[in-house]
Amino acid sequence: MKTWLHLGDREPDYRGLMRVQGDIRIGGKAVPASRTVIAEQVAADGVHICSEADLGAGWGNHSQIAGADALITDLPRQYLLIRTADCFPVLLQDTQNRAVAAIHSGREGTRLNVVGKTIRILRDRFGIAAAELVAHVGAGICGRHYEVDEATWRDFCGALQEQDFAPGQSEYRHIDLRRAIFSQLIAAGIPFFNIEQQFVCTLESRVHYSYRRDGTRNRQINLIGLEYE
Ligand SMILES: [Zn+2]
Repeated sequence: MKTWLHLGDREPDYRGLMRVQGDIRIGGKAVPASRTVIAEQVAADGVHICSEADLGAGWGNHSQIAGADALITDLPRQYLLIRTADCFPVLLQDTQNRAVAAIHSGREGTRLNVVGKTIRILRDRFGIAAAELVAHVGAGICGRHYEVDEATWRDFCGALQEQDFAPGQSEYRHIDLRRAIFSQLIAAGIPFFNIEQQFVCTLESRVHYSYRRDGTRNRQINLIGLEYE
């Protein structure tokens, strides 16, 4: 078994896929829509372990996985799809290819440490130690461009401190999600050399969708799945 993954940019985009309802074409590869699973993404910490029945969730009449912001699967050729535009996609790969996970970690998901929860479930349910995982963190909004109101900022920093994460040197009323997610990955036991980051701010990038910049309803798509060699 091997792991295939894709951290998205403008192409292919989520709205385009929903219009066409066909294969997802990335480079020379075509991932059939019927082999993917799409989470509802309600900005919380719901983690869903996928089954065969979840194939095609989020397409046509098959509803998205309700209440989930993170998906896990150990089934070959079941691709987990997370959509983002400023929030961070975090894809977890097992060095022994026993399972994979796709996580949507925005402000709420990060405040609730959905990343840490997913890593715990991979350990408890799949016997995968954090030290065996590689985390891929995609493009998202940087701390400089993510300013919030004071109450939201205090609430976020307070929650992180309660979980023993340093809120970092973030400026007044600014939230550095990438930094928070990095601390959560480290605290969960992922070796720092197993954390691969695309250091791109979606608001600054010309090849990514940014909700803050454009108010867009379009999204990057991020995918991960196990495949036969
Ligand atoms: Zn930025």
